[in-house]
Amino acid sequence: MRIAFPHMGNAYIPLRALVESLGAEAVVPERPNAETLKRGLLHAPEFACLPFKVTLGDCLNALDRGADTLAMVCGMWACRFGNYGRVQHMILKDLGHEFDSVLIGRENVGEVAEKFRSGLGPGVFRRLPGALAIFRCKAAAVDEMERLARWARPREEKYGSTDALLFRYLDLLDGADSLRQVRELRGSFRDELLSRPLDGEDGVTRIRLVGELYVLLEPSLNCDLLRRLGSVFRVEAHPVLSTYRWLLGPLWLDPRIQLHGYRARRRTRPYLPYVLGGEEHMTISGILDARRQGFDGVIHAYPLTCMPENICRTVIPSITARTRLPHLGLCFDEHTSPAGVETRLEAFLDLVRDRRRIQTGGLGEQGDVMAGDVSAAAAAGGGRYPLCRSGAGG
Ligand code: SF4
Repeated sequence: MRIAFPHMGNAYIPLRALVESLGAEAVVPERPNAETLKRGLLHAPEFACLPFKVTLGDCLNALDRGADTLAMVCGMWACRFGNYGRVQHMILKDLGHEFDSVLIGRENVGEVAEKFRSGLGPGVFRRLPGALAIFRCKAAAVDEMERLARWARPREEKYGSTDALLFRYLDLLDGADSLRQVRELRGSFRDELLSRPLDGEDGVTRIRLVGELYVLLEPSLNCDLLRRLGSVFRVEAHPVLSTYRWLLGPLWLDPRIQLHGYRARRRTRPYLPYVLGGEEHMTISGILDARRQGFDGVIHAYPLTCMPENICRTVIPSITARTRLPHLGLCFDEHTSPAGVETRLEAFLDLVRDRRRIQTGGLGEQGDVMAGDVSAAAAAGGGRYPLCRSGAGG
């Protein structure tokens, strides 16, 4: 079996380990770029949400690379994501591509198991515990590395040094083939990152990031939001969602994820007494807790036609007005341009910092980011996520 799956942030690292430990070959397409989006746009329904279009382009790229099996999670959410896999695979088959579909959902576990057994032989179930162990270990390592990088970026002395280190270690992690190697890499990344000289805390702003999962986690789609916030705007960004949570939650490999989700649903019941199907409870609970957890503002990122997050948009202003927390809504579609996002971030962060300066009775000047600095730094950065460099449309 030559199995492919669409990109979402650095999820390809644990997913590749899982697939290869089961005895199959993992086909990882190139990172989404302007061409990927163009291919997805050509064949996707116009009204479909942006993640659908990008992941459809990803599937086409994977088929070009020789994938014979496309895997997709489906049927677990009430929003459109529940039908992504089925509809995408129908479109691809209509286009004449031949492949096996593995649609992973609650209702067809037996069917999926049978596909793997017939493709990889009966030994696949014997290899499963080891495969899940390395999958979990790599997911946790990616999670920790990303978390440390988000903390270090706004404090780095040399622009881009955190990302250079992060990308080097992510590549090493992708190639690691034992639990011991993964743990060693995790430790040496931590040591190397924390032993570097830092620029101090002056001007570092803490922002909570909420919104739709794919837009929050896929840098090619969100104009490299997390990296830009950290390295360009000196913002310590805290997304409420992570690849780790998305990968391990449905498999029940970490009970803390379920507990966290349960708490979020209970906390948001007065605002959303029902399930909308996306990450709406995490969005609302993330905003409700932001003031208490010391954040200076909130950024809400979502795709244009996203049903759960658009419902959240109607709730958020009343919460942020009551908690007196500045918030910015960033809507992404195929016409979103990096320059537009940057301008909004600049204006929003000016406001956040002014508020904080007033509240604290004056703060150092380092927090101010001038437009010239931003463009120069942004031009120097990027490189790994081509969609946001070339612009996604306009
Ligand atoms: S959460 Fe929103 S963007 Fe994501 S699949 Fe559902 S409707 Fe689409």
